[in-house]
Amino acid sequence: MSKCLITGGAGFIGSHLTEKLLEDGHEVTVLDNFSTGRPDNLAHVAGHPRLTRLTGSITDQVLLTEAVRGQDIIYHLAAAVGVKLVADDPVRTIETNIYPTEWLLKLATQTGCRFFLASTSEVYGKNPNECWDEDEDLHFGPTSKPRWAYGCSKAIDEFLALAYHAKYGLPIVIGRFFNVVGPRQVGNYGMVIPRFVDQAMNGGPVIVYDDGQQVRCFAHVKEVIRCIDELVRSDEAVGRIFNIGSDRPVTIHELAKTVISKVDSSVDVNFREYTEAYGNDFEDVRRRVPNVDRLQKTLGWKPSLTLSEILDDIIEWKRSSEQAN
Ligand code: UDP
Repeated sequence: MSKCLITGGAGFIGSHLTEKLLEDGHEVTVLDNFSTGRPDNLAHVAGHPRLTRLTGSITDQVLLTEAVRGQDIIYHLAAAVGVKLVADDPVRTIETNIYPTEWLLKLATQTGCRFFLASTSEVYGKNPNECWDEDEDLHFGPTSKPRWAYGCSKAIDEFLALAYHAKYGLPIVIGRFFNVVGPRQVGNYGMVIPRFVDQAMNGGPVIVYDDGQQVRCFAHVKEVIRCIDELVRSDEAVGRIFNIGSDRPVTIHELAKTVISKVDSSVDVNFREYTEAYGNDFEDVRRRVPNVDRLQKTLGWKPSLTLSEILDDIIEWKRSSEQAN
């Protein structure tokens, strides 16, 4: 049994991780301010005897100090997320995504606990390669475009975590998430799959940006949280960066057609300019495919659920949650 702190534990990924750690018999403290996390996400474990909930912000240093005391593992998932949300409030991005990470690393160094840092495929920026491995160069656009603020803030977090590992031997593991999807994800901050499912279930049209030929790989959150937990407990993973996700590419147009056929709907697909939704300063990433060899070699497995299986699970969840409301 270990004592675990999950910052952002009421978020989409955090709530699945909370559930898994409780199931595995651990003691879990969730720290969340419910800015993008939702109390509903934890409703099914509320009142669990091994769960402690701290409601507050990771920008509160007193609360952080209290939260870290006695922990064996910190899963640092809390962040300002959603590329657009982050671009719209750059100061909040610094306050949320950068300072608290360093405070937590410092506290973890004092208490000697393991540390998982949630990072993102956004750090690869516009890297033009077909498939990205962890040692690729980062290719951000100009700093005058706030669109890159999210990726930059997470890249700084990575540097911070690696620095604490190099200087103090802090056992850190960095995970770069690639399009994690599943039940409980909402479409408010971009997130294409919940948007397409909602649109297809509610008479459409399904809105595809640009020509729909942009490519993504979607991984089920259940497999992703298993990766997170196995990595942070693995000595081989310490001090390293891992791509975490699926390596099966699909175009967004293909995704739209698959969602429509899965919901058994005959709605139209409409193509719109990306800038219509995101503004002129925005640029989409055309291709986002991870190389997950390092993950597979370290864990002995990699996320393998197919898009079809993932969509079935999301659609079933969506239908049952709509019935419940
Ligand atoms: N996208 C789309 N329609 C939507 C939302 C997103 O066509 O309603 C596209 C978006 O342009 C991008 C892809 O779907 O190319 C994935 O978007 P998401 O925000 O889910 O992930 P990210 O771009 O961060 O990988």
